[in-house]
Order: sequence, then structure tokens, then C-alpha cells
Amino acid sequence: MSQEREHAQARRARGGVLVVGGGFAGSYVARYLGAATLVDPRNFMLFTPLLPEAASGTLEARHVVVPLRQMCPEAEVLLGRAVALDEHRRVVTVEAHGEMLEIGYEQLVLALGSIPRALPIPGLMDHAVGFKDLADAIHLRQHVLRTLDAAATETDPAARRPHLTFVFVGAGYAGVEALAELADLVDDALRHYPELRGEPRRWVLVDAAPKILAEIPSRLGEYAARQLASRGIDIRVSTTLAEAGDGWARLSDGETIETRTLVWTAGVEAHPLPREWGLPVDERGRILVDGHLRVEGRDNVWALGDGARVPNAATPGRFDPPTSQHALRQARRLAKNLRGELAPYRYAMLGQVATLGRYKGIADVLGVRVRGFPGWFLTRTYHLYQLPLPSRKLRVVADWTTSLLFRRDIAELGDLGDRRRIGEAP
Ligand SMILES: Cc1cc2nc3c(=O)[nH]c(=O)nc-3n(C[C@H](O)[C@H](O)[C@H](O)COP(=O)(O)OP(=O)(O)OC[C@H]3O[C@@H](n4cnc5c(N)ncnc54)[C@H](O)[C@@H]3O)c2cc1C
Repeated sequence: MSQEREHAQARRARGGVLVVGGGFAGSYVARYLGAATLVDPRNFMLFTPLLPEAASGTLEARHVVVPLRQMCPEAEVLLGRAVALDEHRRVVTVEAHGEMLEIGYEQLVLALGSIPRALPIPGLMDHAVGFKDLADAIHLRQHVLRTLDAAATETDPAARRPHLTFVFVGAGYAGVEALAELADLVDDALRHYPELRGEPRRWVLVDAAPKILAEIPSRLGEYAARQLASRGIDIRVSTTLAEAGDGWARLSDGETIETRTLVWTAGVEAHPLPREWGLPVDERGRILVDGHLRVEGRDNVWALGDGARVPNAATPGRFDPPTSQHALRQARRLAKNLRGELAPYRYAMLGQVATLGRYKGIADVLGVRVRGFPGWFLTRTYHLYQLPLPSRKLRVVADWTTSLLFRRDIAELGDLGDRRRIGEAP
């Protein structure tokens, strides 16, 4: 690194504010603030609440992301990866387009988010797929559609079964919503597979906690569990994944399930860089911040989002959970604090919403609990309201409307984006 630094280009962040990470938290800070430099390796903000619908194909994948340059028109967007922090010189080193850039700052905002939590389970890394990013959602959709084709070509029912068995480990928002959406995708896609008519498929949802969706009120969580069970989804609570292999998953209750699809959605952990950079972190790697979102012991470094342990004046004694709605409210407060309107962060949650596949959802808004179709409608309306940019909202509404009128698109664009040599046959 020291050799690279000698050749690093030096520049200063716009307005003196450098925001590292352009996810939910960072992009909103830059949007509200205006003059700032925003660094992220991707040129878009992923709107994760709609990611399960991108996986199932209800929404076009590009419509669940918001281009950072459109979202933050007054900010300087720098496509790159932060690799080092020198607090003494007030400089962050960014690897961008094969070059090292040193960005000087007066105020630094860290919004690096989280990474999927990988537990030391034998076979997990080699045989499970995650569900955190757009690439994961596209991969999972393609994998599921290919799996149906593989099942259709099998004539032996025993050999078919693993292709039609889907195991999700982790029954939080991501796992439950992704499973429900993909189950709808499979139901719809199978109409086009006469070879598989009447063929049983199996969906298994595994979680170490005693109930699914532990983060939402228990009455709604119980409704979600009943709803999923009535669709034949096999829910295994107080159960963990013990081992995974090629074509199988073994659970802690001793059952070995033959499956070609093992999805790991069992939580996230804070991004490792802040710990490596010597910033104060808790036992889970989250940056310690005070009530104003300022990193403890620093006067010009701030942090928010999933990667920070954020105290909330509205919930004394409790820290914010890792959700987009909290990240967004923290961003709003932090932008004001950086503008000099210093006040403690305070956000009283309005409610929680989740979809359970087509026309089914759960919502708890201002103490009013709704489920079924109204819950689904409310969830969608809420996400639409949160989605930035009118053009994005319109694209999403157009996708939803189209999906009401026509059958689901089951095109599988697996090699899209791969470069093919000129003259090469598919
Ligand atoms: C599938 C799924 C569904 C979800 N559904 C919901 C929901 O319905 N409701 C809800 O409230 N929450 C939901 N969440 C949680 C929500 O997405 C997070 O709480 C939110 O994204 C946190 O925002 P963040 O900015 O802290 O992190 P992120 O949004 O993850 O952003 C982190 C950013 O940092 C960037 N980055 C990483 N490394 C570097 C680096 N070295 N240099 C520069 N940039 C870097 C990343 O590219 C990313 O853009 C869901 C999450 C997932 C995965």
C-alpha cells in the first residue's frame, strides 16, 4: 500500500464532506446534503425491500435500483472502493478504475453497511447462495428456472425431487419474502412445463429462533407462519443448518434434505473495514456512535446505517435495528447535523410491513395491524412511497400493473452481460 500511496492522486471531497458507501444510508446523506463526494463501487443504490420481487421477476431488476448520479445530482459520485483511512492526515484512499486516489475530507461519513454473516458450517460457503445483492437475486432467479428445466428432463422421480426442493435458512425479512416470491415464480413457471404437471415441490424454511420473522409483532408473525404453512411450506423453527454438501443439506434435527437450492439468509454482520481501520466498534463490529451519529472519540467522523450501533432518543436504552427505514431517518438527521443544525437523532417507528408473495402481506402501521390483501397493498404502497425519484416509482407501478394483466415472464437470461467472441455460436 505504501508504494501505491506514493503514486496516489490527491484531491479534496466536494464541500469537504466525504461519504463512504452509497447504500440506503450514504446515498440519502448525499441527497439531503447536496455538496459532498460519495464513494461506492456501484453506481446505484439498491432498494432492498423490492429485491425479492426482482428475484421472482415481478419487477425488472433495473427498476429496484436507483442510479446515484440521478439520486444525488449535486454530489460528486466516485465509483470506487475505499481501502484505507488515515485519520491523522484526514484522507481516505480509494481504489477507482485501477488507480489509487487520496480524497481529503473535513467531515467523513461512514455508511459501509453490512455483509452476509457466514457461520463456520461445513459446506456452507461452497453449496449455499446468499440473498443480499442484485446479483444474488438475478442468480437465484436463473438458478430456479434452470432447476425446473433440469427437473423436466429427469424421468426418474427420485432424481427429480432434489430439483424441486428448495431450502431457505434464515426466516427474517429477506428469507421469508424471498421464499414467498420464488414459490410464486415456481408455481407460475410450472404452467409452462407439462412434463412436471402435478409434480410435488417442497419448500423448507429453517430458523434457529423459536419463531419466524422475530423482528415483527408476534400476532403478525404467527399469521405469516400460518399463511406460509397453508401454502405447504415446511417451517422448521429452533432448527439450524448443520452441514451442506453437493445436492443435500443436513439440519440440526438430524434430517438430510436432498436439494439443489440452498439459500442462506441467516443475518448480516457489520462491514469489516471500520474495525480494521481502528475505529471504535462493538463486539459485532458496529461502529460506536453518540446520539448525534458522531463516532465516539472523534469530532469529524460520523457513521450510520447497518454498520453502526446507533442510539435512538425515541427508544432509550435500545439501539436501532438494521433496517432501511432507520437508515433513511438517520441519514436525514445526519445531513442536518453536518449542516450545523446539530440535534440528537430520534425516530419513532411508524410500523413494519412485509409481503408474503402475490396478494398476501402483513403490515403493522401506527398500531393498526392488517394482513392478507390489505396488508399486501399497504406494503406495496409504503415501498412505493419510500422509493426515490418519480421515474423509478413509475417504472415500478408499470411493472406491477403489467404483472396483474399478463403471465409472469420466465425468460432466463443467464449469460446476459457475458462477452461472447465474435462469430461464436450460443
Ligand atoms: C433482501 C433484503 C431485504 C430487505 N428488506 C427490507 C425491508 O423490507 N425493510 C427494511 O426496512 N429493511 C430491509 N432490509 C434491510 C436494509 O436493506 C438495510 O437495513 C439497509 O440497506 C442498510 O443501509 P446501509 O446504507 O447501512 O447499507 P447498504 O444499503 O448495504 O449500503 C452499503 C453500501 O456500502 C458500499 N460499500 C461496501 N464496501 C465499500 C467500500 N469498501 N467502499 C465504498 N463503498 C462500499 C456498498 O456497495 C453499499 O452500496 C433488507 C435487506 C435485504 C438484504
